[in-house]
Amino acid sequence: MTETSTNRAPIRASEIDPKFKYEVTKMRGGEKLLKCFQCGTCTSDCPVARYSDTYRPRTLIRMAQLGLKERVLKSDTLWLCAACFTCTDRCPQDVEVASVIRVLRNLAAERGMVPMVFKDQAGSILESGYAYKIPELRAKKRETLGLPPLPKGNPESVRKSLRGVKFIEAATKKGEPSGQ
Ligand code: SF4
Ligand code: SF4
Repeated sequence: MTETSTNRAPIRASEIDPKFKYEVTKMRGGEKLLKCFQCGTCTSDCPVARYSDTYRPRTLIRMAQLGLKERVLKSDTLWLCAACFTCTDRCPQDVEVASVIRVLRNLAAERGMVPMVFKDQAGSILESGYAYKIPELRAKKRETLGLPPLPKGNPESVRKSLRGVKFIEAATKKGEPSGQ
């Protein structure tokens, strides 16, 4: 089943966790979830939604309100938000939309539901200090072009700074990859 069809599939009563919305509202940034009245301003102003057929912040907010816990936490589109905060600035109800999405991501990460691409990035940051590992071939090509070597990353310092960050711990935990 594709992401789009999963989000739009009919809701079964067994999927609904009535306590989920309170789990979200207890977390910093998620407090105003229940104030959303589904006007759609967040989606219409979202730069990511403009270029995606599936990413709709309003839908994620509604799924969280309805208690569709598994569905929203497993949603690949949850990870498309660019955290630009346009939605938060424009919401007429003062819902901190971008922060609600961060809360949902953190809850997903706690359960190991992080797309493989972000797990790889987190692993690379801890290992090399860079989000993207520069291939050896590319480094050699720089030499042949007379370009200076790239500065070395400082993974030890990065690891120290990120110690205790739950998302990184969850994202790099060995387990079943999720999505993408
Ligand atoms: S802009 Fe605010 S009130 Fe409107 S749908 Fe988005 S979160 Fe809900
Ligand atoms: S913070 Fe995320 S959901 Fe909000 S407008 Fe930016 S990309 Fe869209």
